[in-house]
Amino acid sequence: MNYFKHLNFVILLFAFTFYGCSNSTENKPKEQSLFVIKNVNIIPMTIENNLIENATVVIKNKKILSINETIPNNAKIIDGTGKWLIPGLVDMHVHTNADLNFRENAPTQGATFFMDTQDVMTTYIANGVTTIFELEGRVEHFGQRNEIAKGKVIGPRMAIAALINGGNPNNSGRIVNTASDARQVVRSIKAEGYNFVKVYSKLNIESFETIIDESKKQGLKVVGHIPDAFKGQTEKAFVPNFGLVAHAEEFSKQIRNQTKTKKDAQYFAQLSKENDTWLIPNLIAIVKIRDQVQSLDSIRLMETLKYVHPLLQDKWLTSNNYNKHSSSEFIDYLDSLITFHKGMVVAFKEAGVPMVAGTDAGVSGIVTGFSLHDELELLVDAGLTNEEALFSATRLPAEWLEIENNIGTIEINKYADLILLDANPLEDIKNTRTINGVFVNGTWLDKEQIEKMLSNLEKWNLSNKEKYKWKDRRKY
Ligand SMILES: [Zn+2]
Repeated sequence: MNYFKHLNFVILLFAFTFYGCSNSTENKPKEQSLFVIKNVNIIPMTIENNLIENATVVIKNKKILSINETIPNNAKIIDGTGKWLIPGLVDMHVHTNADLNFRENAPTQGATFFMDTQDVMTTYIANGVTTIFELEGRVEHFGQRNEIAKGKVIGPRMAIAALINGGNPNNSGRIVNTASDARQVVRSIKAEGYNFVKVYSKLNIESFETIIDESKKQGLKVVGHIPDAFKGQTEKAFVPNFGLVAHAEEFSKQIRNQTKTKKDAQYFAQLSKENDTWLIPNLIAIVKIRDQVQSLDSIRLMETLKYVHPLLQDKWLTSNNYNKHSSSEFIDYLDSLITFHKGMVVAFKEAGVPMVAGTDAGVSGIVTGFSLHDELELLVDAGLTNEEALFSATRLPAEWLEIENNIGTIEINKYADLILLDANPLEDIKNTRTINGVFVNGTWLDKEQIEKMLSNLEKWNLSNKEKYKWKDRRKY
């Protein structure tokens, strides 16, 4: 049994990013700028997080104008009786589908395969995910962000990172293998308008260190993998401005062939703490890989598969790399990895390392938007309190992204990214799924509108199922 070979599949968490097109215009709610949520229980997610019961929240021009003050005239009233208000959620690790080209084309052409941006974003906002961190950014993601900013699409705020990798030129991302290339690539990334850099697995030590150094000079924060080159000397990767590790697995693969102990988890937590490096545990990724290794029924029977573009559905089912390498030893290994990663969450919590929720949404088996609620459950299962899990998807990611003055808590003057829930998530984290309505940048979507958007998406996917086959992708 060659674990190493199998682990290559575990760490190849790239998404193929594509989509078709469909139905954005009929989804748009009418513009409105003054709302009052009456009689609602606010879970503000501030540091103190003192519950505000039976409160009145006024939302004007996309922002929270007041809490428990006078109610203006002409406002749309939303009854919050018996309901709970939390900040919109943040998924700190996504790979969002965007236009792309599958084949060579004329110099006047760009993408050849197009998607409807609203369809891509609907599953996020239907799940109350109002901010995402794109970890494999392309120019098409900037286009999506502009469509959202222009109000043509209802979608989340998008932070976008450019990916830098090393090794073979065919690897994903921008490839650098020398310090001078590394420095130049970071400068280019800055010039292109990115705010974040993602470091990847095949970087050599010199390039990794240079990227992090130059990123600091350019004012770019760094997120990513711990390159394989650091195996056996993990501590050397912990240099200032390496701000966020993209998966718990980045640590466990540093000790790939060894028995993993609580001491290892504590050591990793200590390295992170000393360097002020935060962690995205991303527990759902390995759970979903495990399920796919075990059986493709885990995809086929997935309740949310209908919201996935038909081409992607077909790829997940007919070209599934995880399932191709199925064995009971591999499943056992993945189970042990899941257990170790949950132990890491406890060790990082005890060491006081902030953790932020991220899901790798967009990769095989992980459905954008829905996956964040799965991750929150797993974080609680691992040992976070319900409140800590909520912090990991609200205030803490806003702080890491340095947008905490705009979002992440429910306070006056923050943007109205809010979720109205039917049940209290502090009592049961599963209650984040009881979504009654969502404010996205001040736009209110009630349950009926959300269900309509989802059902439009489902219908389009179903009626285009025969049109998109993974084996035919070069023709698109
Ligand atoms: Zn990823």
